[in-house]
Amino acid sequence: MSNKDELYEKLIKTMKSKNYRDEDIDFVKRGYAFAEEKHRLQKRASGEDYIIHPISVAIYLAEMNVDREMIATGLLHDVVEDTDVTLDQLKEMFGEPVALLVDGVTKITKLKSSSHNERQSETIRKMLFAMIKDMRVIIIKLADKIHNMSTLEFLPLEKQRRIAKETLEIYAPLAGKLGLGLVKNELENLALKALKPNIYEQIIKFSKAAESEKSDIIAQVSKKLNQKFEKSNIKYTIKSRVKHYYSVYNKMRKYNKKIEDIFDLYGIRIITETVEECYAVFGIVHSIFKPVPGRFKDYIANPKSNGYKSLHTTVMVGKRKALEIQIRTGDMDRFNEYGIAAHWLYKTGEPAGGTSDLRWLENLKKVQNDELSSEDYYQTIRNDILSEEMYIFSPKGDIYEMPRGATPLDFAYRVHTEVGHRCKGAKANGQIIPLHAQLKNGMIVEIITGKELAPKMEWISMVKTVDAKKKIRHFFANKEKEKKEQQLSTEKKVVKEQPQNQDITGNKFTPKKIAEKVSAKTGDKIAIEVDGETNLLFTFAKCCKPNPPNEIVGFISRGRGIVIHRKDCKSIEHIVDFEDRKVNVNWVRSSVTNVYSFFMKTEPTNRSYLEISNVVKKFKGAILEYHIDESTNSGDKVDAYFTIELPSNVNIDVVFKEITALPSVQFINAR
Ligand code: MN
Repeated sequence: MSNKDELYEKLIKTMKSKNYRDEDIDFVKRGYAFAEEKHRLQKRASGEDYIIHPISVAIYLAEMNVDREMIATGLLHDVVEDTDVTLDQLKEMFGEPVALLVDGVTKITKLKSSSHNERQSETIRKMLFAMIKDMRVIIIKLADKIHNMSTLEFLPLEKQRRIAKETLEIYAPLAGKLGLGLVKNELENLALKALKPNIYEQIIKFSKAAESEKSDIIAQVSKKLNQKFEKSNIKYTIKSRVKHYYSVYNKMRKYNKKIEDIFDLYGIRIITETVEECYAVFGIVHSIFKPVPGRFKDYIANPKSNGYKSLHTTVMVGKRKALEIQIRTGDMDRFNEYGIAAHWLYKTGEPAGGTSDLRWLENLKKVQNDELSSEDYYQTIRNDILSEEMYIFSPKGDIYEMPRGATPLDFAYRVHTEVGHRCKGAKANGQIIPLHAQLKNGMIVEIITGKELAPKMEWISMVKTVDAKKKIRHFFANKEKEKKEQQLSTEKKVVKEQPQNQDITGNKFTPKKIAEKVSAKTGDKIAIEVDGETNLLFTFAKCCKPNPPNEIVGFISRGRGIVIHRKDCKSIEHIVDFEDRKVNVNWVRSSVTNVYSFFMKTEPTNRSYLEISNVVKKFKGAILEYHIDESTNSGDKVDAYFTIELPSNVNIDVVFKEITALPSVQFINAR
């Protein structure tokens, strides 16, 4: 176990090796002296001197090569919370930047909420808030997290697991988003150790056992490369690397393999000076060793969204030995390991080298302003913001960015709330898939919708995005509300009207029902909207003759549908039960549409849908329903049903004719 003097020495050594100026090192030394004095009598849960923690955090920061203020903050980050030191004092001694950084880090930890879940979620909310203001705060917080995770064993078991889980769900992905590859790996390894100690030990054991094999292979590969490169001017270095334990664990889980069956516990990395050399080395590697098909990835031409760049390939280096080789320049290597910390991105707020995609940060900013419950907030951050993204295509070729693990339902709700509510089925790349299936990057997803808005309660647990969950919940909440209102008005009606008026209103006393009973007819130029419903029978009251833009109110009459009065009409005062039977109405512009349903035999491909949709769009209509009876699929044709909505001035015969003429349509008839 290291004591504080050894660690302090290590901190200074690290700074020297990273070429910090003497005055920067002196600045950090001053920070250490002050923090050491203030924490002197305090201990950690491990029994160690408290100062061990801040020095360890500072060492991680120095390794990332961040500015001296950040390293000093690493040393001082707990003095305001845990000792009598004030921010003003820090400002006086170390300047405003350090005081602000310490304040940012302190604010994150200083939270007193009622339940654990709330506290957890609020901590994360504050942390991300601080991050948006100053990226440096989050880098310090992540270094803090690494050290806390590495001393987790001194906490109660239950707490260990909880913290480890949160690290996997939030902190490690966050480090990944920021391009802090080493931090991410470290956090994941430590979380694995806490959550699956046996597997963790196993992986370490096997990695160590593979050590000698590793050096043999590296020697063999280097020798062959050197022979090929002798005449060229390419300068390169070869590094071997042990794969990080968590990724080995993921592989075991994903392929349901034992550790003995995982062949690639280590890989090698070739570092060149220029991008051209990367590709040259790549070509040479493939000319010496046989590549494993499908394992080549060009992240230089197509960097990951966090800015990660590298070439990856897997080659056979022995009869049965596959080896992963990464090829990249020195700059790329630094960036991949230290992300924004390497490029000082947080200072300018500009994406490093213009390569990293910070759209997730924009999404994060939006979420911060949403009024989400603690639980929803946590899930949104975890499932939408920090999860890896994938791209899903609509049949028309529109691209949607979705979080990994999203289902067809998530996609339907992303396209449009209505599409979600009407979703009946889905196809991915032309194949029917279940609504709870996980979509894969690059899939073309077609949503099959029905006429009815028919979300199901169980969808809430099927979807991954909080957005979809919210929309489904909202739907049911509204339905519940409608039901209550309906009950209420039925009750009222029973009391007041039943004796004399059973003939007209029946037993369901809502504007909508009445409108359905009397045939729907809309005004020529002006329409009235009642609770969002436009297809209603109404008449204008003769007493006040309302006209737009008069303020109006509706009265559910016996036999004349809804009678529209001006709000200030004198006669409504004399209608006894006006208050009980009034409805809110608005003027809306009339948009009259007709709905038509068809049966057809068509090609069993996406083409017919696209073609019909183009025709319908041309006439400014919409497809309300489209579904294929897969059981009738004969290979070249299939039964399909669809329902379209067209503006009433469109002649359906013309549309019908155009659809009949489509190459993919073999037969069509009205349903
Ligand atoms: Mn700390």
